[in-house]
Amino acid sequence: MTDPLLANEPLIRLAAFLGVLALLAAWELSAPRRRAEIPRLLRWSNNLVLVAVDTAVLRLVFPVLAVGFAVYAEDRGFGLFNLVEAPYWLAFVVSFLAFDLAIYLQHVMFHAVPALWRLHRMHHADLEIDVTTGLRFHPLEILISMGIKLALVAALGPPAAAVLMFEVVLNAMSMATHTNVGLPAKLDRIARFLVVTPDMHRVHHSVDPSETHTNFGFNLSWWDRLLGTYRPQPKLGHLGMTIGIPEFRTRRDLWLDRMLVQPFRGRAGEPMGKGGRPEG
Ligand SMILES: [Zn+2]
Ligand SMILES: [Zn+2]
Repeated sequence: MTDPLLANEPLIRLAAFLGVLALLAAWELSAPRRRAEIPRLLRWSNNLVLVAVDTAVLRLVFPVLAVGFAVYAEDRGFGLFNLVEAPYWLAFVVSFLAFDLAIYLQHVMFHAVPALWRLHRMHHADLEIDVTTGLRFHPLEILISMGIKLALVAALGPPAAAVLMFEVVLNAMSMATHTNVGLPAKLDRIARFLVVTPDMHRVHHSVDPSETHTNFGFNLSWWDRLLGTYRPQPKLGHLGMTIGIPEFRTRRDLWLDRMLVQPFRGRAGEPMGKGGRPEG
């Protein structure tokens, strides 16, 4: 018997992805925060083809992904919430929060360990930040991230719907927090008590290492505030700041082939702790 959630999963994901992408792209095209210097066609075509590469690699490497594995854990009865009696809503909320914290910690780890920074710095090497930057991750980072999610599913036994919801929200929020827009200042301040806003995440894409290694959250802004990695605004302002990392600053570096080999080129650069500190 096929699980109804699993049967509809690809459609739910694709519809949410395309819908959110179209809305955010329309928003940033009509009211851009920063002026684009690099032809959009160059960045968008390469960033979007990378999404297809990432999806294909993920499906080829793992026989089962996080949602399918959660259904499997439920069937086989392993993982915390499949072993203890807990109200469904509680399992759902705790699972969502645990996943969000795990993704935050994973992000910190990708900044702190030099070999992992090599993979993750490709996300930071985008010379501009817009909705497609939120999709620009090296396939090896995507694989490691899935490995961590699968381990968390095995330990936690979360409701499969919570995992699907988390992944759909994460994908949407990753696009949203990279969108080249700005909320009105007051609204941005209020929204930040709960979620990461585009202005908050843009600080993370500053070329200045004391800003690169801050604001690691993807969905909830709480982890950065609680764990001391929060920085409200960039020193040079959102229009004056430089986006990217000191290495890989040519337009040729924005091509897909260069993105894929980037982790293996040059020195590790400045991972967190080696020059860059959240406290700056
Ligand atoms: Zn990062
Ligand atoms: Zn980012």
